[in-house]
Amino acid sequence: MPDTKRETLRFAPSPNGWLHPGHAYSALFAWDMARATGGRFILRIEDIDVGRCRPEYEQGIYDDLAWLGIEWEKPVRRQSEHFAEYEAALKKLREMGLVYPCFATRKEIQDAIAESGIPPRQWPLDPDGAPVYPGLYKDIPKRQLNELMWEGRSYCWRMDTEKACTMAEELNGGPVTFMEEGVGSRGEHGLIRARPQAYGDVVIARKDVPTSYHLSVTLDDATQGVTLVTRGQDLAPATHIHRVLQVLLGLPEPRWHHHELVRDADGRRLSKTAKDMGLRELRARGVTPEEVRETIGLAERA
Ligand code: GLU
Repeated sequence: MPDTKRETLRFAPSPNGWLHPGHAYSALFAWDMARATGGRFILRIEDIDVGRCRPEYEQGIYDDLAWLGIEWEKPVRRQSEHFAEYEAALKKLREMGLVYPCFATRKEIQDAIAESGIPPRQWPLDPDGAPVYPGLYKDIPKRQLNELMWEGRSYCWRMDTEKACTMAEELNGGPVTFMEEGVGSRGEHGLIRARPQAYGDVVIARKDVPTSYHLSVTLDDATQGVTLVTRGQDLAPATHIHRVLQVLLGLPEPRWHHHELVRDADGRRLSKTAKDMGLRELRARGVTPEEVRETIGLAERA
């Protein structure tokens, strides 16, 4: 049972690459806050992307965090072991009429945008920089839907975001808000109104797995009793989706603290893909955890 009296923090990496100092910041930020408040610290492995996640990266997470001096509760929740739970939540959203099957391929989406008459550069982008979904396969006749399913065409589930927001506000008896204790994507702080509309009809369950980052992170934070979600500012916009999902699924409301991102000397954000030096490499070169803390600006106060 989640312990509601104690602050509960988490670090939720995806094992699709080696951890870098940006992850160290995120993990230590949550760990330090858990210790300062006498709270719990949870590590969760976000491995729904079965094609990109690898056991050696997962082991790397355990090794790097232990090296940093972090201790986490066991057993560790691995999302790939909970697909049935995500599927049950998806079913609930389906029964509420808030998600629809979408058969569109990337090419179809590109073509629809190209044929829209709107210059591609003016097509709206979502907060993550992807083109907003043009609405293909939304509200198609039942017969066509059946045919596509019979043909065995693969599909994802998209949320009708406008409808979902209206229903969430109805259920909530007014505007849906959330508490940002750090700094949001546009510098906001404090009570923020959840407006996921900028995402358009976002994917709630992918074609290959019955969930998405948004659905599983929302469910797991609730299941694990997380009271304060800490993570990088790059994920701040997604909170608007997560908050609406919480209201729709009747889940408890945590607070959020989005923290700054670690940047290199050129101001570029560190990433797994940009071949930034990983923690394990730094470790192999004799760098100490204290030095990592100092470099990322989280030096331990004596
Ligand atoms: N799994 C996500 C990542 O590695 C983080 C999820 C979260 O903190 O909400 O980027």
